[in-house]
Amino acid sequence: MAECIFCKIVARNVPATIVWEDERSIAFMDIGSVNPGHALVAAKPHVENIFELDQPLAAAVFQTTARIARALKQAFAPQGVTLYQANGSAAGQTVFHFHIHVVPRYEGDGMNLAWPIKTPPRSAIEEAAARIRAVL
Ligand code: 5GP
Ligand code: ZN
Repeated sequence: MAECIFCKIVARNVPATIVWEDERSIAFMDIGSVNPGHALVAAKPHVENIFELDQPLAAAVFQTTARIARALKQAFAPQGVTLYQANGSAAGQTVFHFHIHVVPRYEGDGMNLAWPIKTPPRSAIEEAAARIRAVL
């Protein structure tokens, strides 16, 4: 995709601080780092979101994500690591080329995701599960 910034990073057409790559995935530093070490793991081919990932690509991207998480743990000794991945603007996606954020975390670092729990009745949870099973 000619105008996609992450495709340009994969093709080395724009500068990026790359830390790892293999045949199907690439990891580079996020220019908008939340904490030092904040990295992005992207699919190499242009796939917009998780719905376009085939199984080998999903496996490759997640293997690299786990590899980067282990490296961040060793390099920064954070108190935790958060994976963040958004699909669609309603979900918070701003770059429409599939990627996973790998963020070293510390108590009180200010990275907060609002999590508005609704505590639905058991029947509603069962009904949601039935809808999922029906399409799997
Ligand atoms: P999203 O909001 O789609 O989950 O995350 C997109 C991320 O890409 C943002 O955190 C943003 O800082 C990062 N980003 C946007 N443009 C560039 C770029 O040109 N280079 C790098 N390294 N990161 C970028
Ligand atoms: Zn792209």
